Amino acid sequence: MKAVVFGGEGAIELREYADPTPGPDEVVIRVMASGMCGSDLHHLHGPRRSESEIVIEGHEPCGVVELVGDTVRPSEAHVGDRVMVHHYDGCRTCEFCRSGWTQYCPNEKTVYGGLNGNGAHADFMKVPAHTLIKLPDALSFKTGAAISCGTGTAYAALKRVDLAADDTVAVFGQGPVGLSATMLAKAFGARVIAVDVESSRLAMAKDFGADHIINAA
Ligand SMILES: [Zn+2]
Ligand SMILES: [Zn+2]
Repeated sequence: MKAVVFGGEGAIELREYADPTPGPDEVVIRVMASGMCGSDLHHLHGPRRSESEIVIEGHEPCGVVELVGDTVRPSEAHVGDRVMVHHYDGCRTCEFCRSGWTQYCPNEKTVYGGLNGNGAHADFMKVPAHTLIKLPDALSFKTGAAISCGTGTAYAALKRVDLAADDTVAVFGQGPVGLSATMLAKAFGARVIAVDVESSRLAMAKDFGADHIINAA
């Protein structure tokens, strides 16, 4: 398969890899959309990366299950399922792993797409079956890729502040995560004030439903 790696200082390389085969508790997904997150850009434009640091980038994966390992349960995945990937595998036994917050696992963990596991800027991606989240038919693969990191992050922030329809919320920064927060906060019914220093970003915020826009510059 073909895959994209970032070498730092702007270097992008298309490489040939062997097609992955799943271990017993793993699946291989055929990647249909793979988002670019801010942390991808750090690896692309940051310092030159050594060969040992380089993995296939892309931790906003969305695609279709292609291969399923021997011990994967039918409730976890079937060939043909449309899926997103929550791109962490932890110890699977600590309180964080058990409650779905694998990213906070203090033990040895794999972060797919950028740190120590291969990601989704490729034809195929191999992950443990427990990292999959079903993609509803109504959502496109591109939407699923956005939800897999950036838009999901915005949603989690709004849930954490317990946003309600009679609230006003200010969203500072209208990058992909901020714009997602603006859009989702409107969907919750709140009044949204969008803040950024780029007028083009504020115009997008307006399109995404912001009630007020403020250029902080
Ligand atoms: Zn991300
Ligand atoms: Zn853990």
